[in-house]
Amino acid sequence: MDFDSLSGELRRLRDDALAAVAGASDEAALDQVAIRFLGRKGELTAVLRGIGTLPADDRPRVGAVANEVRVAVETALAGRGAALRSEARAARLAAEGVDVTTPGRTIGRGSLHPIPETVAAIAEVFGQFGFVVYEGPEVEDDLTNFQMLNIPPDHPSRDLWDTLYVDVEGRLLRTHTSPGQIRVMEQARPPIRALLPGRCFRYEAVDASHGFEFFQVEGLMVDEGTTMADLRGLLDEFAHALFGRERATRFRPGYYPFTEPSVAFDVQCVVCGGSGCPACSRTGWMTILGAGMVHPVVLQYGGIDPERYQGFAFGMGVERIANLRHAVGDLRLYLEDDLRFLEQFR
Ligand SMILES: [Zn+2]
Repeated sequence: MDFDSLSGELRRLRDDALAAVAGASDEAALDQVAIRFLGRKGELTAVLRGIGTLPADDRPRVGAVANEVRVAVETALAGRGAALRSEARAARLAAEGVDVTTPGRTIGRGSLHPIPETVAAIAEVFGQFGFVVYEGPEVEDDLTNFQMLNIPPDHPSRDLWDTLYVDVEGRLLRTHTSPGQIRVMEQARPPIRALLPGRCFRYEAVDASHGFEFFQVEGLMVDEGTTMADLRGLLDEFAHALFGRERATRFRPGYYPFTEPSVAFDVQCVVCGGSGCPACSRTGWMTILGAGMVHPVVLQYGGIDPERYQGFAFGMGVERIANLRHAVGDLRLYLEDDLRFLEQFR
């Protein structure tokens, strides 16, 4: 081995190393290149083993060439390493970056179901006249649901309510919110202005206009000198607030055992405005609630002296009011929880 061949071998090694450095595609590959050429068992070490066979005068010259090669390879490794780290960082930033121009993800917003929404609208109107919301139990006793409302056990008007009984003691699912009148009178003294929204139950075949489960809002006012005129004025305000100022209203005679006299309260048809259409059976009117002066017997059952106090009560079906407000034709829709239906009330 002489100086020329050894230094030639070193230069070839340098060229191979520089090509390998340039071709390393990531830092791991670059590490392998460093080990292969400069490591303790690397190619440079292997070539330098031949240095011992050279004449003593040539050894420093070969050492100088070997040093140049090592520095050249180390410099290339450092440069390529910096470039690879910079590329990797740029790629990571691109991958993790936030594109502030991307449209946001929509968060689904809920809304009130049309039944509680309608109850809230009703309560808001009567709340302006001092009516306070009470709640009565859904499981009632026969006494409160019927007898104290002037409906004795053998009374023919019981046929008006197909009742679901809970047990043989006569406990039942309330058939109307009217027992709430008794519940309120048991805990409050006149002047009373109570609003009682709640779920009611009847033994009914289900169709577009009947359900075994439905909602009512009951109202009760008891004070000295309360008259039908007060009732009429209040219900007019209610009808106008929900269905428009211009809408005419009327009382028709009605019948409930717990009010005397009893009336049906009609508003001008909200569909045709009074000219007659299928929705109002061509009468131009729609009945929205039943009402009347509280029967003296009911006041007595409530512990209130009917000689001193008078009262009126009214009750309405929430589904009926919601149907008219939102032009819904089938009350089964309210209980089916179909989002395609419910999302229309946002
Ligand atoms: Zn009509």
